[in-house]
Amino acid sequence: MISSKEIRQQFIDFFLNRGHIFVPSSPVIPEDDPTLLFANAGMNQFKSIFLGQKEITYKRVVNSQKCIRAGGKHNDLEEVGKDGYHHTFFEMLGNWSFGDYYKKEAISWAWELLTEVWKIPKDKLYATVYKTDTEAFEIWKQETDIDPTHISYFDDKDNFWEMGETGPCGPCSEIHIDRGSSHCTRQNEPGHICKINGGCSRFIELWNLVFIQYNREADKTLSPLKNKFVDTGAGFERLAQVLQDKNSNYETDLFMPLINKIEELSGVAYTQETGMPHRVIADHIRCLCFALADGGFPSNEGRGYVLRRILRRAARYGRLLGFAEPFLHLLVPLVIEQMAHHFSELNGKEDYIKMVIKAEEERFNKTLDTGLEKFREITQKLKGEVISGSDAFILYDTYGFPPDLTAILAEEKGLKIDYEGFEKEMQLQRKRARKASKFTLFVNNEDWIEFSPVTPTEFVGYKENTVQTYIQR
Ligand code: ATP
Ligand code: MG
Ligand code: MG
Ligand code: MG
Repeated sequence: MISSKEIRQQFIDFFLNRGHIFVPSSPVIPEDDPTLLFANAGMNQFKSIFLGQKEITYKRVVNSQKCIRAGGKHNDLEEVGKDGYHHTFFEMLGNWSFGDYYKKEAISWAWELLTEVWKIPKDKLYATVYKTDTEAFEIWKQETDIDPTHISYFDDKDNFWEMGETGPCGPCSEIHIDRGSSHCTRQNEPGHICKINGGCSRFIELWNLVFIQYNREADKTLSPLKNKFVDTGAGFERLAQVLQDKNSNYETDLFMPLINKIEELSGVAYTQETGMPHRVIADHIRCLCFALADGGFPSNEGRGYVLRRILRRAARYGRLLGFAEPFLHLLVPLVIEQMAHHFSELNGKEDYIKMVIKAEEERFNKTLDTGLEKFREITQKLKGEVISGSDAFILYDTYGFPPDLTAILAEEKGLKIDYEGFEKEMQLQRKRARKASKFTLFVNNEDWIEFSPVTPTEFVGYKENTVQTYIQR
């Protein structure tokens, strides 16, 4: 079986052999872009090149970008563990043309790598193009031997790629794979037909080829860029699933060692049916390791609050496997062992990451059990299907349950939470805090659903056995 290490390397080599140079991933915590919560695509670090603000020094680049999609415009947190191919943290493999080659090479090379090098059966692959992009449609038809009936047009939602509310963007062409009817997750829905971008898990997207030619301005209009660019993103873990012939990304050699370790520590065996906790924990620990290694830190606002929520979710899923003591830090060495050969920034950070994760989990554990008890109490008394905003707020304020964690607990019981009511309680609390003292440190939790830019924080070092110290700029 081909290993994930080999898959990453073969991708890189394929493009090195076609005149590209390798550029390392940028950190998951964006260094100089306050409009971005986390790096969410390969193109983030090249934004200023697209915008003509930075000189083009290399015309062809290949890379593997560390991405986190757990908030902001691209938020996959709710899918994690439910499906087998959306992660909070994943690697996006990409090849890039900065004012050099365009659609023809991008499409032909992607096809060659998938079908000639990796021998993915051609009849399982499908291509999509943007509704007005007849050029890309024709290239697929003329330059590759894809089944022409497997090329189709899609509109803005799926085939116009944007990084965020503003920034470089353009039409794209995606490659999807048909994993077979047994992967359909909506078989029981009358009238459901499996199709690309159709909401079931039979077809999954492997690779997105973006043809960047516009900038989305703050007033939402599109302005043309000086040069044209190719920006591609292939899901590394998904490629591993396909090339290792597995049913989900979690069964690949990227996740299985973690899942085995979770089994060993908990004594609970992993199965596809009952393995949601294993999957969530394996996903979240990778995300936390990379975020902490790149300077992220759990806190009560912005990026830090997303990390805190991720950790608390993982801790709570740990409870379902019977972990009563902090355990997440025990998985850290495995993540580092597996990933540090490619991401050397992990080297030397094991003790630090373990320490932060353990301290965070310990802190949350203090209120987790009583919080779960409180949740039971609330649901026992509940009339109807909706947990009130004020109850969700009590769980948040007294027991440290982020509302999305309460929502998970609720969903497991077929209940919902009243987010609007929760938001109202938050506003009230803010007012109370403001009244209480002009000088109180005021923590803004508005960011729990969507990200709004926060004041950049600067790492100024940490003392032994204490948490990191940040200063607000
Ligand atoms: P999907 O439709 O499956 O959510 P996407 O269209 O949002 O994917 P893109 O923004 O086009 O994804 O990103 C490029 C590639 O990165 C995708 O083709 C996919 O292979 C991979 N990818 C995207 N999101 C995730 C994720 N959350 N976890 C793992 N891989 C992902
Ligand atoms: Mg998506
Ligand atoms: Mg998509
Ligand atoms: Mg896509």
